[in-house]
Amino acid sequence: MTSAQPNTFRPPIVTVMGHIDHGKTSLLDKIRSTDVTRREAGGITQHIGAYQVQGITFIDTPGHAAFCDMRTRGASITDIAVLVVAATEGIMPQTKECIEHIKKNDIPFIVAMNKMDLEGASPDKVKGQLVEAGFTPEEYGGQTAVVPVSAKTGQGIDKLLELIKLNAEILELKSYPDRPLQAFIIESKLDKSRGPVASLIVQEGTLNLGDQVYADDILCKVKAIVDDKGQSLKSAGPSTPVKVLGFELVPCVGSLVTPEKRLPSPTSQCKVKYEYDEDNPKLKIILKADVEGTLEALKRSFSDDVYILSEGVGAITDNDVFMAETGNAQIFAFNVNTPKQILKLAEKNQVKVFQSKIIYEIIENIQSQVLKMLEPTIDETILGEGIIKAEFKIDKVRIAGIQCTKGEITKGDQIHLKRDGKIIKDTKVEGIRHGKDIIDKVKSGSDCGMTFKPYIDFKLNDVIISYNKT
Ligand code: GDP
Repeated sequence: MTSAQPNTFRPPIVTVMGHIDHGKTSLLDKIRSTDVTRREAGGITQHIGAYQVQGITFIDTPGHAAFCDMRTRGASITDIAVLVVAATEGIMPQTKECIEHIKKNDIPFIVAMNKMDLEGASPDKVKGQLVEAGFTPEEYGGQTAVVPVSAKTGQGIDKLLELIKLNAEILELKSYPDRPLQAFIIESKLDKSRGPVASLIVQEGTLNLGDQVYADDILCKVKAIVDDKGQSLKSAGPSTPVKVLGFELVPCVGSLVTPEKRLPSPTSQCKVKYEYDEDNPKLKIILKADVEGTLEALKRSFSDDVYILSEGVGAITDNDVFMAETGNAQIFAFNVNTPKQILKLAEKNQVKVFQSKIIYEIIENIQSQVLKMLEPTIDETILGEGIIKAEFKIDKVRIAGIQCTKGEITKGDQIHLKRDGKIIKDTKVEGIRHGKDIIDKVKSGSDCGMTFKPYIDFKLNDVIISYNKT
């Protein structure tokens, strides 16, 4: 690292986060619309995942809370967080999660108490909840800045911006444009005509046209730099968010951009892997999406019962199919065009593929499969139940002595074998006997001898459940 001296202060990098529907997007839109220079530029707003207003860089991408956890050289890339809490609803589960991110990363934050224009707003309740969460508002003698705002009327927005600037001054965020480049990717996608496009925020150093840099291990020969106002730039310095063309592949959100090639950063969103716990089954999936933003938005919508074996931006590849086959996973793809031969390959390998251009359809399909996995009998009608009370052997064939306790069980029925309250095997009724007679069915209150096919290694006191799919 060089000892290049700072020449000025850099704008703070701000992440806005909070519970869904509390107004993050509206607040960011309102703040952006206060920008006079943008209006003067003809109102051409480029969505690049972040923007600068009044010397503040706001990250404006669906990654929100994740940007608190991303770190470079040990520090979070977020300098200041704005926690949006709707004054009509107060602190909600996701608000608490955000507070955890803030605490864990020790990030200074300001509470934007939003929706103050609504009748149901109750600021005192929110402040009380903040006290309970360990963040006493300044007006109660604590340290936490709480600003009442309305993303609808614009009330309090100026005050919020002032407070962010004040906090930034205290942080003394020095600018080092002469140091080696260090930037991080906030959004990326594959553009049909232009190839990989990524937005990044420079933290230190300067990115210049023609530079050769790496996003982790992905090479970029910088072909174009465009800012949030749609202007082409020759270079971008500290805290500047820009869109960059020239990457060889689509880089992952969270990856570091430096002059040297490096191994993927541990916080890069594409590299997050979880250990699979066989005793705690999860729905295994391979997830593909058109852009990093939607990929992450999708991931955040899944419950803990979903295990992402692999994920990525772009169409389904043969590699995804082979990985799904070996990993016993299904492939879900949002808004990508998968070549026919890949779909054929999946079919041949009996890999399930679900594609949609509607995000909600993907989430719904996954949720219903999770439900089915946790509650395997959710789409079944129970026809009968019995307990295995004895075991006989005739001609080396094991026969279960069943006492039918509910409904009736018929030859050919599909059967779950349940042990200690858990379904452990599925089979079918092969044959039923009463004494020496071969019978078709057994009813509640009667006993019988039963054989199953495929073979199951039943034990005394196992329960058999006969069912129909509804
Ligand atoms: P996000 O999920 O946190 O990004 O929330 P959105 O910005 O999408 O807002 C959710 C809903 O609340 C939308 O219908 C907004 O129009 C509305 N909303 C957001 N902020 C305000 C506000 O200050 N006042 C009122 N009345 N409605 C708001």
